[in-house]
Amino acid sequence: ETVLDVSDLCAAVGETPILKGVNLKVRKGEVHAIMGPNGSGKSTLSKVIVGHPAYEVTGGSALFEGEDLLELEPEERAQQGVFLAFQYPVEIPGVANNDFLRLAVNKRRQAQGLDEYDPIEFFGVLSEKMSQVSMSPDFLGRDVNSGFSGGEKKRNEILQLALLEPSLAILDETDSGLDIDALKTVAAGVNAYRGEGNGIVLITHYQRLLDYIKPDFVHVMSDGEIVRSGGPELALELESDGYAFLDAGARSDA
Ligand code: ADP
Ligand code: MG
Ligand code: MG
Repeated sequence: ETVLDVSDLCAAVGETPILKGVNLKVRKGEVHAIMGPNGSGKSTLSKVIVGHPAYEVTGGSALFEGEDLLELEPEERAQQGVFLAFQYPVEIPGVANNDFLRLAVNKRRQAQGLDEYDPIEFFGVLSEKMSQVSMSPDFLGRDVNSGFSGGEKKRNEILQLALLEPSLAILDETDSGLDIDALKTVAAGVNAYRGEGNGIVLITHYQRLLDYIKPDFVHVMSDGEIVRSGGPELALELESDGYAFLDAGARSDA
C-alpha cells in the first residue's frame, strides 16, 4: 500500500523555484533515506509535504494514502497521520510538554475515531513511551523544548513519533548534533516504530545514522530533484566518494 506518492512536484519561495520535479513513492513498511548536498532542497521537500506556508506548490502532485495531500490544511495533514520532526524544533514558552503532547495525541485520536485520553490515562501512556526513549520524567513539566539539550529535543521528537503513530514520518536531520549514545537511542526509537503500518522518510547528511536505521531505499537530491536512487549500498558509496558525480554530468536527467 502506497503511503506517499509524490510526482513531478515543483515548489517555489516567491519567484524562486526550489523543488524542480521531485518523484518519490513510499509504501507502507519501507524506510527511504534522502541524502544530498546542503541546499539541494531536502528540507523544502519535507516542509512542502507537511504544508509549510512559506512554500508555494507550482506543479506536480502529492498523494497521501491515495488522497490529495496538497488540498489539506497543515493541521489536517498532521491529524491524518503525516508527521515531520523538524531539524530545529521550536520552543513554545508557557506550554508544558505534557499538555502539548496530550493535545496533539488527542487530535490524532479524534481523526482515528478513537476516544481521547483524559490527563490520568495519558500520563500512563506517556510514562511508558518515555521510558522506551530513556527520557527523564522531570521533562514533562518543562515548557515545550525550552532549555532542552540537543539530545533531549531529538528524544522528544522520537517520543512524539511513538505517541502519534503517524502513517508517514519524515525525520529531517534527526541525527545532527547527537553524540553516539543519543544517536543509538533515537535509532532504537525509530526502529521500534518502524513497521508494516507506516512509511518513513529519513533525511540525513551522513551515512552514520544509516548504520543504525537500515533503509530500504536511498535517494540523492540535487538542485531540487531526486537524481539518483538505489539500495543501502548507495549511502556507502556516497560516504566514500561524496557527491562529485553530481558535477561530473552523471545526473540522471542531464
Ligand atoms: P537542504 O535541506 O537540502 O539543505 P533546503 O531545502 O533547506 O536544502 O534549501 C534549498 C534551497 O532553497 C536553498 O538554496 C535555500 O536557501 C532555499 N530556501 C529554502 N527555504 C527558503 C525560504 N523560506 N526562503 C528563501 N529560500 C529558501
Ligand atoms: Mg535541510
Ligand atoms: Mg528532471
